[in-house]
Amino acid sequence: MNGTNFFLGMNFLIALSFCVVFLVVSTRSRSKSAVRWIAAGFAVASFSTLCELAVAHTDWVRFSAIAAFVSVLGGLQLLRIGIARLYEDRISLPDQVMFFLFWVIVDLLIYDLPRGTLLHSFAYQTPFAILGFNGARSVMRSKRRLPVDYALCLLLTFTGLHFLGKAWLAAAVGAGTTAKDYIHTNYAVISQSATGIMVVTVGLMLLAVLVLEIMADERSKSETDLLSALLNRRGFEQQLVRCIGRHHQGSHTLIMCDLDHFKSINDTYGHYCGDRVIEAFGQLLTEQAPKGAVVGRLGGEEFGLFLPRMSLEAAIPLANAIRTMMATLAVPGLPREFRANASFGVAPWNDRSTLQQNMQQADAALYEAKKAGRNCVRWVVREPIEASVAAQ
Ligand code: GH3
Ligand code: MG
Ligand code: MG
Repeated sequence: MNGTNFFLGMNFLIALSFCVVFLVVSTRSRSKSAVRWIAAGFAVASFSTLCELAVAHTDWVRFSAIAAFVSVLGGLQLLRIGIARLYEDRISLPDQVMFFLFWVIVDLLIYDLPRGTLLHSFAYQTPFAILGFNGARSVMRSKRRLPVDYALCLLLTFTGLHFLGKAWLAAAVGAGTTAKDYIHTNYAVISQSATGIMVVTVGLMLLAVLVLEIMADERSKSETDLLSALLNRRGFEQQLVRCIGRHHQGSHTLIMCDLDHFKSINDTYGHYCGDRVIEAFGQLLTEQAPKGAVVGRLGGEEFGLFLPRMSLEAAIPLANAIRTMMATLAVPGLPREFRANASFGVAPWNDRSTLQQNMQQADAALYEAKKAGRNCVRWVVREPIEASVAAQ
């Protein structure tokens, strides 16, 4: 077995393994169809290695050589489509079919040209290079800006250049005079090993993109409340920490709110209708929250609204406005005359105390609002720690 046979066998196994891994990843990815195109790309490209072996070791030389080209081209195109879909770049399938047919015809036309000439080698490698550059362009156009996206973009550009480099190398060192000679040349060893490295690096980088995407989705799911689509308590607290990190200067305010007599709403109209009230209140909070605010459902019928760079004086009228809107809001799915109220506790954010202490402050003000008869707003004006004690 010479070096090229070995690399062809390795490339076959590597490409097939990536196909299987991408199929597994597709079951967890939000970009299912994109990942399946990528898996198909690796599967189709893997056939090219078998075809190359057939060129060297069977008499079906012309057929196998053309089949090798067709499967690399088809595989890379499927990969290209998958990358475009992953990065939400528009791609026209008819254009891809035209591209495919055009370059297959070119390959048929150049088949009998002398190998090792610039014309032959560039005509052979150019479509692969174009696909690499186009993949990089799809990544560049997208809104995703993680380091791994930049790395993929660079890698695809490099992959494109590597095909052009191979074209130049084939002309410089010779790629055999016939397709059958190819496998015994030094060029074939270099070409197959370089392609193997590119397949592995592009495959691993795509996997890194997908794994990070799945992790981000899982985190977002674990931080989101399904009923209201707001952050849950965990997400709210985490987002608060991130938000405070961004706006560490200036005064912030926290509003806690709780639906009034919610138990009796459930008792009167049923749990399903109670859920609709929670949804409606969550939506109202989202609509009224200023840009940059953090909104969350902290538990049953209790919500939090964190207002970065907003003073207590500005937050109190906002809480009152939301309270009035809720008191007049018709809730879809409930009788037309039905109205629900909520109570609000407002507290200035003190960065000298802990998250729990700050939340306790707003909670204490909310408790005051409940005590004062509900459907009203109460606030804490003193230093948070003292106020917490005063409210107990
Ligand atoms: P208050 O005015 O003092 O806040 O009284 P309340 O009845 O609103 O408060 P209480 O804590 O006594 O009852 C809250 C109720 O909220 C009890 C619980 O069954 C209900 N609840 C909690 N989570 C959900 C939910 O997801 N959906 C529905 N429909 N009800 C919920
Ligand atoms: Mg309540
Ligand atoms: Mg409650």
